[in-house]
Amino acid sequence: MDLDQQLNLFFNFIDDSIIVIDRSQKIKFQNKQSIALFKSDFTNQHITNLIRAPQFLDTLEKSINEKIPYTLELLIDPVSQDISQTNIFLSVSIYPSKDMYLIVMKNITDVKNLEIVRSSFIANVSHEMRTPLASIIGFLETISSTAKDDVEATKKFLSIIEKEANRMKRLLDDLLIITKIESDEHVHPTKKVDLLNTLEIVENNFEQSLKKNNISIEKAYDDENLYVLGNQDELIQVFSNIIENSIKYANENSKIRIKLRILEDKNKDNSVNRLFQYNYAIIELIDESEGIPKKHLHRLTERFYRVDKARSKDKGGTGLGLTIVKHILNKHRGSLDIESEINKGSIFTIKIPVAPIT
Ligand code: ADP
Repeated sequence: MDLDQQLNLFFNFIDDSIIVIDRSQKIKFQNKQSIALFKSDFTNQHITNLIRAPQFLDTLEKSINEKIPYTLELLIDPVSQDISQTNIFLSVSIYPSKDMYLIVMKNITDVKNLEIVRSSFIANVSHEMRTPLASIIGFLETISSTAKDDVEATKKFLSIIEKEANRMKRLLDDLLIITKIESDEHVHPTKKVDLLNTLEIVENNFEQSLKKNNISIEKAYDDENLYVLGNQDELIQVFSNIIENSIKYANENSKIRIKLRILEDKNKDNSVNRLFQYNYAIIELIDESEGIPKKHLHRLTERFYRVDKARSKDKGGTGLGLTIVKHILNKHRGSLDIESEINKGSIFTIKIPVAPIT
């Protein structure tokens, strides 16, 4: 094998896309990854047939003229390049030598997407915090100036301040819960948790507020002795968030029905992979309300997503309740399914692996 063939082989081992061009900017070599990225071998064609971005072509010119390496970040537009369905972010380095130029392209799409998610999350949190804080500052100013001698107005404003401060606290509490769950989301719980006892704890916790809204709970349990693989505190959080929503958004004087059944794993005896075989506990929480329009259902577990922002805020919502539910259930190898019918109500179906009998 000569040196050229050997180099070709080495370049194909590398995960990055590599292109070599000559002085006239004709492509002399593309490694396997680069052919896969651009969906074609452009050998002997001009580099502009491969990458048209002016930002890249300018930097390439500069590198050729100044004979020094350059690195730039490039967003490859999938439509104009016809390469893939989604945007691709590349970190492109150009290394000049005497007659040849080496172009190394690292795919940094995942890192960039994470950056985008992170910064939009920070923007959202800041916005959510800013509103109650602005209102607290505004009312404090009013109390210490125009309403200084007005006892009645001061009382009213103080109660608004308390409400807003509590909203900020709830927001921070929910954010801390999400951070904690996210940090160990891949660690699946292995303890046996008594499902009926867990549901009973939740029901007791909501006794007052159920009474206040004249909402009753009706239970239909197929199995009275059901243990799931879980973390009880986290499962209490799951059921609490859903029941709290049902109390918040359902009609007064209505019913919340809780149904419980087991879904047997059909492939139990003939599947090769026994590691992930479970029977599932299916818990349905059904409320009576004006319902949720279909177009919103798939977005309800997104952070800060609310169908009616004003209504959620009025009810003390943070827009994070169902996000927490989704994260906890992921951690439990479980799932959440939401169905809803206008003027009837919603069904929240939770699926959690049943603990094996030991
Ligand atoms: P929030 O703190 O706003 O209640 P959640 O994440 O718990 O946030 O829920 C997201 C949104 O889903 C709510 O703002 C509300 O619009 C809708 N929602 C959740 N549960 C129900 C329900 N039981 N009935 C009607 N709408 C609901």
